[in-house]
Amino acid sequence: MKDYQKTRLRKIFRGNLLFNILLKDFVSFRVGGPAEIIAFPQDQEDLIRLILFLREEKISFLVLGEGTNLVVRDKGVKGVVIKLSSGFLGIEIAKGKEEEFYVSSKAGERLWHLIETAFQYCLTGLEFASGIPGSVGGAVVMNAGAYGGEMKDIVHSLTILVSDGSVRQVEKEALRFSYRRLELPADAIVLTVEVALRPGNKEKIAHDIKTNLAKRKKNQPLELPSAGSVFKNPPGFYAGQLIEESGLKGYQVGEAQISERHANFIVNCGKATAHDVLDLIALVQEKVWQEKGIKLEPEIRVVGEG
Ligand SMILES: Cc1cc2nc3c(=O)[nH]c(=O)nc-3n(C[C@H](O)[C@H](O)[C@H](O)COP(=O)(O)OP(=O)(O)OC[C@H]3O[C@@H](n4cnc5c(N)ncnc54)[C@H](O)[C@@H]3O)c2cc1C
Repeated sequence: MKDYQKTRLRKIFRGNLLFNILLKDFVSFRVGGPAEIIAFPQDQEDLIRLILFLREEKISFLVLGEGTNLVVRDKGVKGVVIKLSSGFLGIEIAKGKEEEFYVSSKAGERLWHLIETAFQYCLTGLEFASGIPGSVGGAVVMNAGAYGGEMKDIVHSLTILVSDGSVRQVEKEALRFSYRRLELPADAIVLTVEVALRPGNKEKIAHDIKTNLAKRKKNQPLELPSAGSVFKNPPGFYAGQLIEESGLKGYQVGEAQISERHANFIVNCGKATAHDVLDLIALVQEKVWQEKGIKLEPEIRVVGEG
C-alpha cells in the first residue's frame, strides 16, 4: 500500500492497524510470512468504511477468522488482512417457529463459545462441532463439519456485508453449501450467523459433547500446530486411509510431517515453513495418485504470496 493510502486509511479507520506483522502468529499452523497491514475494525460501521476505502483504492483484502484452516505462504499477504475481533462478538437467542430457537452469533465469536451457550440453554444441534476450532464466521464459510453434522444442517440465515458496503440478510434457502464450502458473492464478509436449534436433554448434550471431544483427543495430533484435515475425503474414501496405505505416515519435508496419529493431518514439528507444507501436500497428492489413482483435493485454504 502506498504511503498516501496509509495516511488516508489512518484517517478514516478507527480500529487498530498493525503493519508488517508475521501472520504465523495468527494461524494455528504457525507458518506464514507478514501481512502488509492487519486491520481490526471496531464495529460494523468501521468495517464498512474500510471496505469502501479498499474498493475505491483497488486494494485486495483477506478476512481472517481464527486462522485454523489456513496455510499462509512464506512471503505473506499483500493488501489488508481484516481480523474480526472484539467488535464482532455477541450471541442472542430468540424463540423461532414451532419447537425451534434461533441462536444468532456475531462472526468473530469462537465456535466453542456458541456451543457452550447452546448447552447452557439446553439447545441441541451443535454437538457435532465440539472441538472444531475457529470462529463462527470461519465455520460457516468452510461449512465445517464432523461426526455426521455440518454447519449447513443448522444455519437458518446469515447477515453478510457485500463489496458495495451494503448489508444483506440471506435465508438458508438461498445459501449454496457444499462439502467444506459456502458460495458467497465475491469479497462478501459474514457478519452474523443464525442457527436453528431445538430444546434437548442437558445430560445427553453434555454426553455427546464429551464423547466428540474425547474422539478428537484420541485420534488427532492436537499437541502440535496444524490446520486440521489437509484433504477432503474423496467420495467413498477416507483421505487419511489413502495416505496411510500409500506409505506416507510420518513422512517429513523439512519440519512439516504427515502425522503418525492421523495421516490426513500435516503437523508443524517446530520450524516448518509454508514451503515445506506445500511441498509435502504436492508429494502426497502425487503418491496417492500413483498408488491409488485418486486425486486428493485440499480442504485447507492456501493464501498469500509464494
Ligand atoms: C486441530 C484442528 C481440527 C479441526 N477439525 C475440523 C473438523 O473436524 N471439521 C472441519 O470442518 N474443520 C476442522 N478444522 C478446520 C477449521 O477449524 C475449520 O475450517 C474452521 O471452521 C475454520 O474457522 P476459522 O475461523 O479458523 O477460519 P479461518 O481459517 O480464519 O478462515 C477460513 C476461510 O474462511 C474465511 N473467513 C473466515 N471468517 C470469515 C468471515 N467472517 N467472512 C468471510 N470469510 C471468512 C477466510 O478468509 C478463509 O478463506 C480443524 C482445524 C484444526 C486446527
